[in-house]
Amino acid sequence: KPSLTQRIVTALGRTGPPPALRAVDDVTLRIRAGEVVGLVGESGCGKSTLARVATGILPPSAGEVFYKGRPVTELTGKDRLNYLLKVQMVFQDPYASLNPRMKVGQLVGEALRVHKLVPKNEVGERTRGVLKEVGLDLGYMDRYPHQFSGGQRQRIGIARALAVEPDFLVCDEPVSALDVSIQAQVINLFMDVRERRGLTYLFVSHDLGVVRHISDRVAIMYLGRIVEIGTAAELFAKPAHPYSQALIRAIPSAVTRRRRAFTPLKGELPSALSPPPGCAFHPRCEHAMPICREVRPPLVQISPDRSAACHLHSTSESV
Ligand code: SF4
Ligand code: MG
Repeated sequence: KPSLTQRIVTALGRTGPPPALRAVDDVTLRIRAGEVVGLVGESGCGKSTLARVATGILPPSAGEVFYKGRPVTELTGKDRLNYLLKVQMVFQDPYASLNPRMKVGQLVGEALRVHKLVPKNEVGERTRGVLKEVGLDLGYMDRYPHQFSGGQRQRIGIARALAVEPDFLVCDEPVSALDVSIQAQVINLFMDVRERRGLTYLFVSHDLGVVRHISDRVAIMYLGRIVEIGTAAELFAKPAHPYSQALIRAIPSAVTRRRRAFTPLKGELPSALSPPPGCAFHPRCEHAMPICREVRPPLVQISPDRSAACHLHSTSESV
């Protein structure tokens, strides 16, 4: 499966130039240290690919990943290990990412032991501390993943990521497999952890309702490109891109609570391998104009904190 990601630049640091995650076909997505960026789009839009590239699990097909100002490809030895540890991933399906033959205590302490991050006799203490932090009973240390519920497993996955003291968590659909009631608990845990540890998150979801409460800024992806990015408050209040507008309209009301299937739009998501020419969204867009079929709208800044890729918002020179 070819990578949709064209170019990624991540740089995280508490000092220095503004850290940036630059992604997908000349689009720049800045992630400042300590902020939560929600990355939203339908399945197949490239957001998981982007998440994997950001963590170093997947090398980008083109472009570069920067971490704390340095290209990741240039990191070697200790520096590379440090990057791989500081940037941790939390997966959608915690069960699939947990070795079923390892006990919870072993799972959570594994990286500490393997990379000798703390003295041997402190692994247990660190493990217990992190299990407590995610709300798991210490009596669970000697149990196996299959003995837990989905929500508990995700807590184990989070504990495993936190054990190595990361500064950046990339969470790929971390609550999508959970019941709605459990989703809220796990989101709250993410928010508590972020607050306590001052972490940076890239929070990937197909569900805008999920990222709404946790994100400082939100990036909307469509067919491998970011079509809009802005502060969560502004973007939810006044989405600029027709695709964002459709997504926000599709968020179930707080009254019904139940999440509907993610079908905000008429028409199928076109193949990312042969995206429509011009604006890739034009076959589904109610505002499509002749130019939309021919010219790809660049992502342009439309207000101090907002960029969108849509001819409705383009300046004359970009047309
Ligand atoms: Fe719709 Fe045209 Fe804007 Fe694309 S560029 S979202 S087709 S109005
Ligand atoms: Mg995915």
